[in-house]
Amino acid sequence: MSVPALPTPTLPLDLTCLLGQADLSFCGGATSETDVELQDRLINARLGAAAGLFRALRLRHAPTAQHCLRVALVCSAWCRELNLPATEREEIELAALLHEVGKLGLPDTSLSSDERTPEAEPHLSQRQACLAREILSDSCASPRILDMILQAAAHFDEPSGNGPRAEDQLPLGSRMIAIADRFDWLQTEQPAQPSPGREQVMAELERDAGSGLDPQLVRQFVEWLGNKSLDLRRATAARWLQELSPDLPHICGQQTSGGGSRPEVPLDRPMPLDRLFYQKLLENLNDGVVIVDPRLRILVWSPVVERLTGIQARGVQYQPWTPSLVELRDERGGLLTAERCPVALALQSGVQSKRRLGITGRNGKQRSVDARVVPVFDRDGKVYGATLVLHDASSRITLEERVQMLHERATRDPLTQVANRAEFDRVLKQFIDTHLEQETPCSLIICDLDRFKRINDVYGHQAGDEALVSFARLLRRSCRPADLVARYGGEEFVMLCADCDNATAMQRAEQLRRELADIPQSSLDGQCLTASFGVTEIQPGDSPETMLRRADRALLAAKDSGRNRVVQLGAGIGKARTGQPRGSWFGWWHQAPADELVEKQLVTAVPLKVAIEKLRGFVADQHAEISSVEDQRITLQIGGGHSTLLRRSSDRPVPYQVTLTFSELRPETGGLAESRGGWTLVRAAVRPKRNRDRRRTDAMERARQLVASLQSYLMAHEYLADAGPAAAASLLDLAQAPVTTAPADEEIDL
Ligand code: GH3
Ligand code: MG
Ligand code: MG
Repeated sequence: MSVPALPTPTLPLDLTCLLGQADLSFCGGATSETDVELQDRLINARLGAAAGLFRALRLRHAPTAQHCLRVALVCSAWCRELNLPATEREEIELAALLHEVGKLGLPDTSLSSDERTPEAEPHLSQRQACLAREILSDSCASPRILDMILQAAAHFDEPSGNGPRAEDQLPLGSRMIAIADRFDWLQTEQPAQPSPGREQVMAELERDAGSGLDPQLVRQFVEWLGNKSLDLRRATAARWLQELSPDLPHICGQQTSGGGSRPEVPLDRPMPLDRLFYQKLLENLNDGVVIVDPRLRILVWSPVVERLTGIQARGVQYQPWTPSLVELRDERGGLLTAERCPVALALQSGVQSKRRLGITGRNGKQRSVDARVVPVFDRDGKVYGATLVLHDASSRITLEERVQMLHERATRDPLTQVANRAEFDRVLKQFIDTHLEQETPCSLIICDLDRFKRINDVYGHQAGDEALVSFARLLRRSCRPADLVARYGGEEFVMLCADCDNATAMQRAEQLRRELADIPQSSLDGQCLTASFGVTEIQPGDSPETMLRRADRALLAAKDSGRNRVVQLGAGIGKARTGQPRGSWFGWWHQAPADELVEKQLVTAVPLKVAIEKLRGFVADQHAEISSVEDQRITLQIGGGHSTLLRRSSDRPVPYQVTLTFSELRPETGGLAESRGGWTLVRAAVRPKRNRDRRRTDAMERARQLVASLQSYLMAHEYLADAGPAAAASLLDLAQAPVTTAPADEEIDL
């Protein structure tokens, strides 16, 4: 018979090295580490979860385990020679690997090396078969493989007469294993005697044919193997490592579809990266890596995961991943169920996730980890498994906690737990910049407890403190996510309301005022507190200082008018824009050429007397000084020594001169405008006082903001004298527009 050469398949680098270094005779008791590693891989490749049985056998009696492996390798190559179907070949390989598993239960005395053949003690052979049945039944072996193992030790009787043909009774695999087993026994060097030559071995094997072995098969075996080198074992070993397929029959395959069965995806399919690099990578990564197959079976449990959990890889390999394995907890510390496990969810949804989770190791130590789960897809886009990367976040958490603590210390008021003044100052500037840029309203409510000094005097400072905490709690409760409540100082609080106009802010302040007045304070023997509120909406040209001062003026007005009330000041952004195209505030100064002087003609739908009253708010909030009043012309000085206009600490103070020329417009008799008392024209000119500042773009921009602010305080609009009828229409609009939405209190103050 012609014997085709058995090609050695190409293997990954480390396996090739391993095969190259290993003594594939697997003889003798002293086994090198390389041999053990190679054996383990081969056994894992073929036995999967049942590999433990083989390892147990190796621990019990290493020569027997090595003998089994040699027999399996020879049987495998022989099956190929016989062109047996892959499934049958693989069953024979498995049976050969475990054909001596019964020795696990034999007494020590019967395991000495010179008693390796069952023939030495026939009753031992029967005992071994019984034990094998017991062990393998419990290990859920498939019936065919079990049968093959049990029959391997049975004697083959040649067909004779009318009796049943032995080959019908004994499975082919059993007969092949018996021959390979005998061959190996004859071939393997005995401690006492040198190994016989191949010819002698074959001759002895042929002699045994008919007395227990199938003679026809023996002839075929001898013809095939002849003087062939046992390198065929190397080729088979390489093939085992290389050619694992997902549908291998498995010793445990049929009876356990759950926990211990071999996964559908091959566990040891060579990794895309060279395994050596891959292993080194896992060993040297700072993060832990767990890889699971589509059925959540653990394929990789890296050394860092061993350290994080205290669980060794060998204890969990091929076991199902469950959150309970490491007591996986969610962000709030709740135990994660299998359904909510991020690894299972990644397999189901095919979506990556990253979460801060808690794990508890074997030693009971809890840790925080940043867990990233990445589903892995095969070429067809089907989920092939998932990788869980665990980053120990314990140290980061401590750092984050410290940063958080420092941040809170720097930004929170320790008594009331609302923001402190520094935080308010920081946010107010951002608020103003953002809302002015987007031209959306925002409002500031400033509130102060009424007659609080008396509360302290009567009930004591401690009781006063508790009342402050209670008021702060009420303010926080009414806060929306984008709002900010801060303690401005003493018994004075501020609330920044995002996207909120004057009217809404008034309602919110009124609601707070009423609620506070209805809450009996336990620290004050059930007495209720009251507070006064000042409200203002942002308006063009505002700076943090002007907005705050306007709100403060409103608060003062509330105090002056009797306390326990809400007063609102200022036109707001929407009101000031009435009758103007959106964006005109900003378009106006961006279009204006850079000049030494910013000039604008304004018109307000109130008579001169009221316009002058309105100017007072501008003067107060801009901290302006009136330097001269001539006829209808008023000159103001702003800035200079005051740092209130500075936006950045690097800014130099820029003093401005503002010249305002007033004139009254006489409306037509009997018209709407006349009923309101007439209009006032204001020519406003703003310039930096110092020549050198006029070359600074930021100084000129601030000059434009001052004009815009003035326009807001006067509730004025740009007067377009050259626009003819359009200007007239615009003026009519102004006359019809309501002068203010502020309550009567505001009029008192202006
Ligand atoms: P008004 O209605 O005009 O606001 O009267 P008032 O008494 O509330 O105002 P005043 O500014 O005269 O007094 C404020 C008081 O608030 C004085 C101070 O004892 C008290 N106060 C300031 N900070 C605290 C604090 O942290 N705890 C306590 N218990 N009292 C404080
Ligand atoms: Mg007070
Ligand atoms: Mg106060």
